[in-house]
Amino acid sequence: AAKAGGRNRFSYFSPAMQQRAMQHLQLGKDLRKALARGELSLHYQPILHLASGRVRKAEALLRWAHPERGNIPPGEFIPVAEELGLIDAIGSWVFEQATATIQRWRTLWPADAAELSPQQITINASPRQFAKGSSLDVLLQRVDALGLPGRCIAVEITEGLLLDEHPAVTAQLTRLAAAGIQIAIDDFGTGYSAMSYLKRMDIDTLKIDRSFVRDLTTDPSDLAIAEAIIAMAHKLDINVVAEGIETDAQRQRLADAGCDFGQGYLFSPPLPEDAFFAYLATEPR
Ligand code: C2E
Ligand code: MG
Ligand code: MG
Ligand code: MG
Repeated sequence: AAKAGGRNRFSYFSPAMQQRAMQHLQLGKDLRKALARGELSLHYQPILHLASGRVRKAEALLRWAHPERGNIPPGEFIPVAEELGLIDAIGSWVFEQATATIQRWRTLWPADAAELSPQQITINASPRQFAKGSSLDVLLQRVDALGLPGRCIAVEITEGLLLDEHPAVTAQLTRLAAAGIQIAIDDFGTGYSAMSYLKRMDIDTLKIDRSFVRDLTTDPSDLAIAEAIIAMAHKLDINVVAEGIETDAQRQRLADAGCDFGQGYLFSPPLPEDAFFAYLATEPR
């Protein structure tokens, strides 16, 4: 316990810090078992084509139903998974689930309804998965074994991964692109945007971070940034998704600016698969 007073008191853990460390440790232990116990699942958030208002893609987002603590957000447990070296196993599981899901969806709607139904699942991958790469092998194997067109899958990465131009990362991205799998840059504009990677790498989509979308209708700088991203992306033949659309005014502004796709609570939160289907059923045919 922390000593009360004394010159060295700051070198001791306070009870609160100790408790946090214990919780962190316990979370790691629980996470090791979570996969085997079936506590992880994927939710799907609709991504709409803004001009037509139709759902064309879905982002797979990981959920953990902890037996005692209830739902723990990925922002809390993904860093723990990375730290403990569990991210490759979890990432592989995510790739397996998501490829099986898009495969199933493809049998549900006719090929000539391509413009009218979600054609792609977009999957988050952590930088650690590119360092090791065995989960990416799983993805490539699944796509191959299921006979999926690569374009049914997009992998979302953050800009940081492309910063130092690591040859291993470049090689992995090239393998994905060779299989037709699309690459999306998540949270675009929030990292250190070197941007020169946009001309070297085969990037298909930029996702405008929701911090630029939030005040879009009141802050002229945010609108300018969003418009500039859209204009630049289109000149490079790259698609743009706006994240975190919560109001119709934001949707309208982004559509006017020529933004291709949007996702956010205005349309729908991430949903379990059956609720996702229920949402699709509310679309006008
Ligand atoms: P992200 O990839 O940027 O995902 C978008 C996050 O924004 C999701 O949070 C989503 O629920 C939330 N969101 C969507 N629309 C809105 C909106 O209108 N307003 C607001 N305020 N939020 C919105 P979530 O599901 O908690 O995920 C957080 C982060 O965890 C993700 O950010 C992603 O970086 C990471 N993550 C989630 N699933 C996975 C996964 O399978 N693998 C890896 N490596 N990371 C994942
Ligand atoms: Mg994402
Ligand atoms: Mg490509
Ligand atoms: Mg994001």
